[in-house]
Amino acid sequence: MAGFTPALLEEIRARADIVELVGQSVRLKKAGENWKGLCPFHTEKTPSFTVNPKKGIFHCFGCKAGGDAFSFLRKQERLDFPEAVRALAQRVGVELPTDGAERVQDGKLESLRAVMARAARFYSEALWKTGDPGADKARRYLEGRGVDAEVAQRFGLGYAPEGWDNLLGLMRREGLGDELLAQAGLVLPRQNATGFYDRFRGRLMFSIRDAQGRVVAFGGRALGPDEVKYINSPETPLYVKGHTVYGLDLAKPAIRERNRAVVVEGYLDCLMAHQHGFTETVAALGTAFTTAQLALLQRNAEEIVAVFDADAAGQKASARLEEMMTDTMDAGGLAWAVARTGGFERSGYFPVKVAVLPPGHDPDSLLRAEGAAAFQSRLDAARSILSFVMQQALSEEDLSTARGRATAHARVALILSKVPNAEEATTLAAQASRQLGVDSTQLWIEAQQLQGARARGRRSEQLTQSGRGAAESDAWPPPIPFERDLVALLLQVDEARAELLPVLTDEDVAHQGLRLVVTALRRTPSALPEALMADLEGDRERGLLAALLVEDRKWGDTHSHVAELKRRYHIRHRKHRVHQVTRAIIDAQATGDPALPALEDELRGLQRDLQREAEAVRELALARPVLPSEWPVSPQRRAETP
Ligand SMILES: [Zn+2]
Repeated sequence: MAGFTPALLEEIRARADIVELVGQSVRLKKAGENWKGLCPFHTEKTPSFTVNPKKGIFHCFGCKAGGDAFSFLRKQERLDFPEAVRALAQRVGVELPTDGAERVQDGKLESLRAVMARAARFYSEALWKTGDPGADKARRYLEGRGVDAEVAQRFGLGYAPEGWDNLLGLMRREGLGDELLAQAGLVLPRQNATGFYDRFRGRLMFSIRDAQGRVVAFGGRALGPDEVKYINSPETPLYVKGHTVYGLDLAKPAIRERNRAVVVEGYLDCLMAHQHGFTETVAALGTAFTTAQLALLQRNAEEIVAVFDADAAGQKASARLEEMMTDTMDAGGLAWAVARTGGFERSGYFPVKVAVLPPGHDPDSLLRAEGAAAFQSRLDAARSILSFVMQQALSEEDLSTARGRATAHARVALILSKVPNAEEATTLAAQASRQLGVDSTQLWIEAQQLQGARARGRRSEQLTQSGRGAAESDAWPPPIPFERDLVALLLQVDEARAELLPVLTDEDVAHQGLRLVVTALRRTPSALPEALMADLEGDRERGLLAALLVEDRKWGDTHSHVAELKRRYHIRHRKHRVHQVTRAIIDAQATGDPALPALEDELRGLQRDLQREAEAVRELALARPVLPSEWPVSPQRRAETP
């Protein structure tokens, strides 16, 4: 898979301590052979999230998420499979082979990083050089904005001098090619001549760094009134817009420690927040706060507080949010990321809170005018995004008229019906009912009715879809006990694998998820069951496998279980063959096919065989109960089952 050999994956898996890995983000308690904790993938109050260190797997009995260390990293850190392999390999000290293409790519990224780092140093040195009128102006600007020199240095602020080729000339002297600078987005090609010129000139420079603190882009602010206020780096192999959060490298320790990230809009908002002790602050860099940015923050904190101006942008944002809530989306497992200017992206359930600033203020101005305490009180008053949306809905209706109250009532009921957390919904219902002058129970019941109607709609939708058509993140429907036990037996008992795998056909396993597990097992029958994780494509299958592995079954007399199962499958297949042969005989009789006598012989043989087998099974069954669960009687096979 993706160029990693099974042996290599197995080595990484074997070296990884899944309890330690999961324990970084989930508080785990020992419970017998397993460890238990609150599931990081769904909201719960009693722990149903189980980690089994011996098998190296996790499984949640609530949301059915499950898998191995790779799956956990993928889910928790939003990595794709190769990324998860690399991350885990690095953690456990396994060296991965690199192919030529990767080395070239890595080499190119490394040169781009080197160029960006060199440019950042050049801009920074230029800012602190006294005597240069441009640099003096940049420093005066910072002073005027109240930015401490220490904070400016911490954030790597700089100055791009006036002139067309200051950076270009320096890089040339140091032997770095123009093409590389162009790829890094630092220079632009000349319009009517050959060659390049500096992109950033006469500007205050903000270094945009990745989570590891490496400079990946720049934002340049104009110092004069007549120019474009901000010029930013273009997208490069190092920098993808919407995938970077400004200040994360500096804020990460505080975000982890406080379990909270504060998101503001601008560079200076972010700097000022840090200067006033809110070191868990980052800036969204741009108009929309994207899912990728949320994911970056989610790796480090549970709570995200988005700071909104009390202006139209916030209101527009909330209108957009409500609109999205009223269409087909449901909040059972979904929430919304918010943008200051009204752009939203869907993401996994995520507790985003909204802090609204006093009218006329952004974080920078509020901090300078009223200090840390004022900002803190706004953060303390942050409310859930749902509550924010609800308040906006209420404030938009004229509650002094019957009509306004009725509309507000309907909007609020709809919003409440989408709140996945019952406790939060109750609190919100109480809040709204006070403002609407209605009974909160009434409001709550209406919301529940709406929720129920939607759930029924979803269920009938799911019924019309085939198993594979369901959303990718959904768990497989639970298998019937018989098939579950069969596959668990195959996974856990060597004899079962050796005896039954050759006998079983795909049709013998009706559950599609289990069938994929069996197919993977067929490919590598000697693999440890845990190692099959890497062979399964989807999270759903890995979850299913983890569910089968997490409970340690005591099988008792496996030898006779296996013998009996083998017999029963023989019988089933022979019955199937009886049907086929019977049909062929009918056809042969009609067409006068010379194969008729041979078919009739086969049928007689099959029937004799079946009779013998049926007697043997009856004796066996009398001697001992079958598997823990009953032999399945599926509708189409009812007639064939003994
Ligand atoms: Zn869960």
